[in-house]
Amino acid sequence: MFADLHLHSFYSDGSESPDSILRRGLQIGLQVVSITDHDTLEGISEAKQSAILLGMHCITGVELTTEFEGYEVHLLGYGIKATEDFERLLNKFQQARRQRIYRMIEKLNRLGIPISCSDVFEIIKGPSPGRPHIAAALVKCGFCTSHEEAFSKYLHTYGPAWVPKPRLRFEEALQWIHLAKGVAVIAHPGLLAKENLIPKLLTFPIDGIECFYSKHNEVQTKRYIELAKERNLLITGGSDCHGKLYGRPTLGEIKLAPIYWKRLFEKIISNGGEIISGKK
Ligand code: AMP
Ligand code: FE
Ligand code: FE
Ligand code: ZN
Repeated sequence: MFADLHLHSFYSDGSESPDSILRRGLQIGLQVVSITDHDTLEGISEAKQSAILLGMHCITGVELTTEFEGYEVHLLGYGIKATEDFERLLNKFQQARRQRIYRMIEKLNRLGIPISCSDVFEIIKGPSPGRPHIAAALVKCGFCTSHEEAFSKYLHTYGPAWVPKPRLRFEEALQWIHLAKGVAVIAHPGLLAKENLIPKLLTFPIDGIECFYSKHNEVQTKRYIELAKERNLLITGGSDCHGKLYGRPTLGEIKLAPIYWKRLFEKIISNGGEIISGKK
């Protein structure tokens, strides 16, 4: 029984519905999934319904973009119990994401690319859009030949059409996840701009580290596992697949073994969180 605990659906910047992700997951040997959309829990109820139908396990997940000492740090929250306050927090970030789309379109227009808001918004299916939607629109309208070209020419961080996104302070995001009874996991530590942020981040009460990740090499994976074991933290893993449209990382590129996801399940249950399990 294998798990992929880092997945994006079209409720944020993925290309597929949660149902499609779960069905494909089952076909390739996944029995446990978490949809961890950016700044939204909107896809969770669909994912849970599908899990029940398909006889899979599904846990609530979300990925928050935070800031620590000026650097971007992504935090995963598992087993969250959505309170009104937590939803309000997410809504604020979703609204900022939508406003940012307009500002990035304006920048593209000033660069001489006549893309319109409707070109982009007709691609967006959920409340929490991002740069991949603009990339998809640039390709669809023939202004770029691929997503990679859209990112490398215009949308990359500090690129000519990039607009920064508001970020929660790392400490604050951690508190929000814990207030919502969630389990907080540092996402893809291997993607951090500075390796020496990790020991500093670990001085805060985080619950786990995403050791297994599609872009970690073997040395990194081993190092993060050692760190997690030293500090008695959970070891999690996921592909960060954004759906079929985007190619790699693909669904199930990380297949997390039961010893790891079972510990996460125990922690979620001890926090009073729920795990949806469909019966086979
Ligand atoms: P945003 O949240 O709007 O800043 O966009 C970040 C998202 O864009 C990431 O979660 C990835 O899905 C995607 N992304 C970031 N950089 C690239 C890149 N160079 N090429 C393709 N997709 C990217
Ligand atoms: Fe993304
Ligand atoms: Fe991330
Ligand atoms: Zn992600």
